[in-house]
Amino acid sequence: MKPFTPQLVYFEPKALEYPLGVELKEKFEKMDVEIRYTTSHNQVRNLPGENDFQRYRIAKSTLVVGIRKTLKFDTSKPSAEYAIPFATGCMGHCHYCYLQTTMGTKPYIRTYVNVDEILEAADQYMEERAPEITRFEASCTSDIVGIDHLTHTLKRAIEHFGKTDMGRLRFVTKFHHVDHLLDAKHNGKTRFRFSVNADYVIKNFEPGTSPLAKRIEAAGKVARAGYPLGFIVAPIYLHEGWEEGYYHLFERLNEELPKEAREDITFEFIQHRFTKPAKKIIEKNYPMTKLELDETARRYKWGKYGIGKYIYQKEEEEDIKQHLHSYMEKFFPKAKLEYFT
Ligand code: SF4
Repeated sequence: MKPFTPQLVYFEPKALEYPLGVELKEKFEKMDVEIRYTTSHNQVRNLPGENDFQRYRIAKSTLVVGIRKTLKFDTSKPSAEYAIPFATGCMGHCHYCYLQTTMGTKPYIRTYVNVDEILEAADQYMEERAPEITRFEASCTSDIVGIDHLTHTLKRAIEHFGKTDMGRLRFVTKFHHVDHLLDAKHNGKTRFRFSVNADYVIKNFEPGTSPLAKRIEAAGKVARAGYPLGFIVAPIYLHEGWEEGYYHLFERLNEELPKEAREDITFEFIQHRFTKPAKKIIEKNYPMTKLELDETARRYKWGKYGIGKYIYQKEEEEDIKQHLHSYMEKFFPKAKLEYFT
């Protein structure tokens, strides 16, 4: 599982007015990656591919280097006050990825080179809320760690928030390429979270991301580098042997994590859910998926804009909650469960 290398790169010409834009262009030229230009990162046209299936796959290995114009951040409740936009899109192919619905016809990956302006905007948000702490979530629209070996934007952000009194950064990843982040001066202000799951789920539904063993090994490194650590177990998916599958996950986390990391660990538990529009897109993008998406087997929960989601039946939900909670208590009695949903 090698770090991501794009097959095709687009630049907004203005991105080359920023040092990171120039650096990336030189990097991709050396790597012999095809470079094209686009007037706007929002309108990349003529992506290669003969049909939707091919175009989707090519888009997910295409990187667009642009400028983030909107410096108004979205809110990101409940885990943070704001979503901080360093990138959009992801090279992973998780069958249930929420980006399939939110990014619609633009599944290509975008990285923004005006990092200083984004960080300045974050500083203003912090000032407005001072003396309250302001938390920024960096993985609302991408798996930021997955491309950071190319840009080091996340590393800059970690060090930026490390110097602030009132700022906190958090993100979650399914990738293990964390080595360049280990010596970042985080000062305990960044919570580094990994998305983990039972082996069966990762093997069947998360192609293009790091295997569980690698994620756990990376979590150990991050813990030893002194970062506050967190795990999102999501989506919790019922399958044959799920109880052992998730138990084994906790057992392996327990084997890997050093003692000192256990004082300050958070968990977030999210059961598998889907909406009708998401089901349609998943079946189009991943027609061979084994993912169970049967509305009649699920419980309907009303949602925003009239789009409800299908979650597990009440008894199944209770069963999941109870099992996962007991594993957490057994192996990490000091951990904090942020939410189960
Ligand atoms: Fe989506 Fe995360 Fe998988 Fe990337 S790693 S495809 S963002 S779920």
